[in-house]
Amino acid sequence: MKSRQVVIAGAGVAGLTAALAFARHGFGVRIHERAPVLDEVGAGLQLSPNATRILDRLGVLDLVSASTVRPEAVVLRDAVTLAERARVPLGAVAERRWKAPYLVAHRADLQSALLARVAESPLIDLATGSEVTDVETQADGIRVSLAQGGITSHLESGLFVAADGVWSSCRRLVGPNEKSRFSGELAWRTTISADGDVGRHFAALGSSTMVTTFLHAGFHLVAYPIRAGTAINLAAFTPGNSIAEQWSGDTDTDALKRAMRGTAPALSKLVDEAGPWTVWPLHTVDQTRPWTTPGGIALIGDAAHAMTPFAAQGAAMAIEDAYTLADAVVAGPQTDEALLRWETERKSRVHKVARRGALNHFAWHASGPVAIARNLFLKLKSPQSLAADMDWLYGWTPPGWSDQGRL
Ligand SMILES: Cc1cc2nc3c(=O)[nH]c(=O)nc-3n(C[C@H](O)[C@H](O)[C@H](O)COP(=O)(O)OP(=O)(O)OC[C@H]3O[C@@H](n4cnc5c(N)ncnc54)[C@H](O)[C@@H]3O)c2cc1C
Repeated sequence: MKSRQVVIAGAGVAGLTAALAFARHGFGVRIHERAPVLDEVGAGLQLSPNATRILDRLGVLDLVSASTVRPEAVVLRDAVTLAERARVPLGAVAERRWKAPYLVAHRADLQSALLARVAESPLIDLATGSEVTDVETQADGIRVSLAQGGITSHLESGLFVAADGVWSSCRRLVGPNEKSRFSGELAWRTTISADGDVGRHFAALGSSTMVTTFLHAGFHLVAYPIRAGTAINLAAFTPGNSIAEQWSGDTDTDALKRAMRGTAPALSKLVDEAGPWTVWPLHTVDQTRPWTTPGGIALIGDAAHAMTPFAAQGAAMAIEDAYTLADAVVAGPQTDEALLRWETERKSRVHKVARRGALNHFAWHASGPVAIARNLFLKLKSPQSLAADMDWLYGWTPPGWSDQGRL
């Protein structure tokens, strides 16, 4: 039955989560991934409780847990003086408050755990090296064209889910010229070994069990442990020019060094010693554009609403999208109505999250009087009140959940 078949483009966090979410309701799922091999791309991810409670429901949390770290807190520090500006308690406090853990992970570890559950499901087929090249809406369903090893084939299904990332080619299915836009910011990342010299140097900054964000005018750097604490993920954000749409190695780090002028010598030294750095152009997608079409096409994750990572929520939103989309289609009554309802509900939440990211960017990169006002504001906020400010985001549960997760 075509109506119980879903074709998904992309085996990133969004596509794999969607496959598990649809299979959970008994749908047959085919995932087509353009890359021949799913290798270790991407950076560390903060996985907040709104995402981990869904991963738990899909049986993925148990698998990924061993390679993650439960940080004690999120701490904001001044990059010049290294003084602590704010602290949000995580660890057991987060679990009690938001009823699911706050974790930090390597993206590849999350993808491996999702892939392991996908491989176990008799309802899901995953084809790599298989690119979705075209999608047509027909009177009785969707026709998907695929290219694999120079051979073109076609599939028919009731629903097509485009989870093909920020540079989505499927986005054109919901409107013409739906390209992503360069945000003017670059993300720099590297990983250091926790027990090497650079790792020890980092630990001396007092941050190896936390998510630490170092704030400076026009720059911030986020550091946290990954891979069960054996490595530290460093991600720095600076203004910059548009570059190739991928993680680029062999990068000239002058722009990074310039952005860090005036920061504490211990921090600049860390950035000098760490590396090699790779750099990624941050692109965003206009979220007010359509995410669905009548006839059964839906965009999820970065394909629908790539945002800057300043609220650390892109993957979390992809996980929420994927899970709620499957629930919405099952709730029906017709697919078209379900998709419209889902899109309306998701858009209001995703917009709010993107606004939070923009606010973080404004506050973290501030200088002069704005930075002074920020510091004063943060000084007046207790860790508990900063945690309470995040209840709407981290305490969220998918519509219809009665038990607030399993924990
Ligand atoms: C520096 C940085 C830090 C971040 N930190 C966080 C964080 O802490 N927490 C958080 O939640 N998020 C974070 N994010 C955001 C997060 O990484 C992304 O939002 C998320 O990975 C998007 O997942 P996706 O599945 O939508 O897209 P992707 O992971 O890009 O997956 C898309 C897949 O589709 C495939 N594909 C493309 N075109 C086709 C086609 N035509 N046919 C078949 N397959 C195709 C691609 O090969 C790819 O595998 C961060 C992002 C950056 C850059």
